[in-house]
Amino acid sequence: MDASTPAIRLRALTKEFGAVTAVDHVDLEIQPGEFFSMLGPSGSGKTTVLRLIAGFDQPTDGTIELFGTDVTARAPFDRDVNTVFQDYALFPHMSVLDNVAYGLRVRGVGRRERLGRAREALASVRLADFADRRPAQLSGGQRQRVALARATVVQPKALLLDEPLGALDLKLREQMQVELKQIQRELGITFIFVTHDQDEALTLSDRIAVFNAGRIEQLGTPAELYERPASRFVADFVGTSNLFDAELSAALLGRDGEHSVRPEKVQIARGDLPPSGEHRAEGTITELIYTGSATRIVVDLDAGARITVLEQNDQHRGDADARGDRVVAAWREADVVALAAADAPEPEASARP
Ligand code: ATP
Repeated sequence: MDASTPAIRLRALTKEFGAVTAVDHVDLEIQPGEFFSMLGPSGSGKTTVLRLIAGFDQPTDGTIELFGTDVTARAPFDRDVNTVFQDYALFPHMSVLDNVAYGLRVRGVGRRERLGRAREALASVRLADFADRRPAQLSGGQRQRVALARATVVQPKALLLDEPLGALDLKLREQMQVELKQIQRELGITFIFVTHDQDEALTLSDRIAVFNAGRIEQLGTPAELYERPASRFVADFVGTSNLFDAELSAALLGRDGEHSVRPEKVQIARGDLPPSGEHRAEGTITELIYTGSATRIVVDLDAGARITVLEQNDQHRGDADARGDRVVAAWREADVVALAAADAPEPEASARP
């Protein structure tokens, strides 16, 4: 194995369930130490890919390599990966320490060593003082960290995480996102993270694969996906976008094909201040939605499009009700993203509120 050997390599990985193709010829390489997310709407095949990597399911076609070794035919316990599930699957009758030590026990590690390593793993998730508690005596976030310690104590080469923060409330979820990232960095283990939450994927990941209907629609860093979505599906699923179909692109931009512009890239001028940007369109404000740090402003353009503008409230000019105001919306050519022609089906459901 040389330095360029990927942690995980999937080649033409395919899984059919009867007539349903859950995973459709997926090719993917994940690098050692990467925090890699698989993001997509419900039913797009992310969990199935994870289960195939773990060995819980057998592919219909294709291969899986872990650190250069083909493991496609191997049993789950014979692969150097471990899985953290959304429900944590802790043993309720065991102490936190015994829960964490469990994987070492089944591998025949002696008592002294296993308890020492379990204590270290608990310390790495900042739960050293909770070793003697039962899982029921912990908060959701603490249970999540126990599950993480239990999965990492056996020193897997890669950790598979299936919506591990899904059961937590929003505040705790945001805290755990930061912790998870820190823990991953400290341990240096490859994390493969499944989520349908685009904010979570953008926050945590080194790279993200956006899944749609069993295929990878786009692969890139969070910034690449956000700034340069390749398709309408990605522009719409990752963040919010103003989408211009071919007709509107021609009218507003003078360009062929479909395009998108992020709401925060559009400026509006009311009254005297001229907006900056090569593209300009006049319209009427129809809605203002205050969201705390920002305001979403909906503008119906005279050209027939409805666009959303995201204005930070530190720049907000405090006009309580600007509904009905005539405005000029403007955006820069550099912020216009050309989208590939859509050949994939529309998303089933969007994860955005
Ligand atoms: P979610 O976010 O809802 O978990 P997902 O992107 O992880 O969705 P998968 O669970 O991988 O999606 O499912 C992909 C497709 O495969 C879906 O159409 C699903 O109904 C189907 N599928 C998954 N597991 C099975 C199974 N055991 N038997 C039949 N069909 C299945």
